[in-house]
Amino acid sequence: MSTSMAHGAGGMVRFDAHQLAALRLRFRGALYAPGDPGYDELRAIENRAIDRHPGLIIRCSGEADVIDGVNLAREHGLLLAVRSGGHSIAGHCTVDGGLVLDLRSMDGVWVNPADRTVHIEGGATWGQVDRETQVFGLAVPGGIVSTTGVGGLTLGGGIGWLHRKWGLACDNLLSATVVLADGRLVTASADEHTDLFWAIRGGGGNFGIVVDFTFRAHPVGPKVALAAVFHPLEAGPDLLREWRDLALASPDEVTTRALYWSMPRGDQLPPPVQGRDVVIIGAMYAGDADDGREAIDRFRSLGEPLFDMSDYIPDFRAFQSGFDSIGEELHRYWRSMYLDDLDDEALDFLHERAMNRPDPYTAVHLSIMGGATSRVPAASTAFGDRSAPFMVSFDAETEDPARYPAIRDWARTTSVDARRLSGARGAYLNFSGDPAAGDDALEQQFGANLARLRATKRAYDPSNLFCVNNNIAPE
Ligand SMILES: Cc1cc2nc3c(=O)[nH]c(=O)nc-3n(C[C@H](O)[C@H](O)[C@H](O)COP(=O)(O)OP(=O)(O)OC[C@H]3O[C@@H](n4cnc5c(N)ncnc54)[C@H](O)[C@@H]3O)c2cc1C
Repeated sequence: MSTSMAHGAGGMVRFDAHQLAALRLRFRGALYAPGDPGYDELRAIENRAIDRHPGLIIRCSGEADVIDGVNLAREHGLLLAVRSGGHSIAGHCTVDGGLVLDLRSMDGVWVNPADRTVHIEGGATWGQVDRETQVFGLAVPGGIVSTTGVGGLTLGGGIGWLHRKWGLACDNLLSATVVLADGRLVTASADEHTDLFWAIRGGGGNFGIVVDFTFRAHPVGPKVALAAVFHPLEAGPDLLREWRDLALASPDEVTTRALYWSMPRGDQLPPPVQGRDVVIIGAMYAGDADDGREAIDRFRSLGEPLFDMSDYIPDFRAFQSGFDSIGEELHRYWRSMYLDDLDDEALDFLHERAMNRPDPYTAVHLSIMGGATSRVPAASTAFGDRSAPFMVSFDAETEDPARYPAIRDWARTTSVDARRLSGARGAYLNFSGDPAAGDDALEQQFGANLARLRATKRAYDPSNLFCVNNNIAPE
């Protein structure tokens, strides 16, 4: 068991058949114990490197099930995990032997186009949100794929295609309905439980279970201007120098990223990129598609591409879900940091590590930050410092379980070595594969906000019931 889990109640589920039968009557959602039909499908999470066997999974159907689930965990001293989209790379949505409150059935999304607000239940995914918002030409800033959960992504920050124009996902949160460790249901907003509202915007699932989010939505799509251009991997440093300069000079509407990766061999891909090691340049304009074409075309004219897929993706929803099917069976371990400079030393370092990736699925991923994200002061939300213009993540991934130790070690070593680069700092804990966030990692993500986070934890969860996460221990 990781040290992060040692602080909480920590107990295993040991209900007998009579107790289980009584629980099945109490909850509206279904209960799954080991051996029940469907248990194995339900316990599987997105990161195939993590294979845990909860003592009980409750498919919560609403607030009442979540409240009763929290009370059950507290009263019986059970190790408790909360699951929404199930994309935690560190596996923070499941536990061995303990209780999992699975929120996936709570996936309702209600849009009010008149005031551009969206109510989202705690277990919805971003694809479900886009389905409802895009019909009104609206979007809430989420991530770059559609399968991630609104819950984990927002509570940890939320970086995607819209963050330069509209801020992180958590910056667009207006209020949240939260089940606390003592079973109370409260509203956190700018007017109520303001310390809790501050803490859940970046501090993760440490403070309670969010059963309902209310977000501000913005006009985006359905048609969007975007670039998706494939270059040979060897073009790396020269191409990325040009990309860096263009990215920094672009308006807030443009969010762009560059990815070192290896394309699969499938026939469904254009022949010039099948099985090739590539640098992919992606860019999207968060505004009127016609207004954005010129800014986006600049990214299409960099270097000498192998293939330009920019016109193949018709709309925002298709773009958001375009990468969903890649790596559904992957074993993952990620690490990340921010960079003040993407100077020659950094570009050469990243290129050298990208040339020596341990698996074709493993990526070196550069994102531009800045824009609206950087205009939110570090102390205004728990998320912390947002001043660095770039983030790099080392997304170590493989289909082959036997290669997992090698890819994990590559990401660890590379991220440690990268800390020597000028202006390298911080970490984005939503991109961490480490089961326990140590003090260093918490300092890197939260900086000066960590003390206030610990105080808020003491106020809302003094016994650390919510400990299966990037844990901010109360002491
Ligand atoms: C393929 C992939 C793509 C990704 N892309 C992006 C991206 O573009 N941008 C980005 O910022 N991140 C991205 N991430 C990282 C992502 O933000 C985190 O993995 C996040 O934790 C996922 O949230 P989830 O709800 O799917 O995960 P879960 O595994 O279900 O939950 C993660 C954590 O959040 C807690 N939690 C979840 N829901 C709630 C809730 N309602 N109330 C309280 N606690 C809750 C859980 O207890 C757990 O500790 C990506 C991850 C993967 C694997």
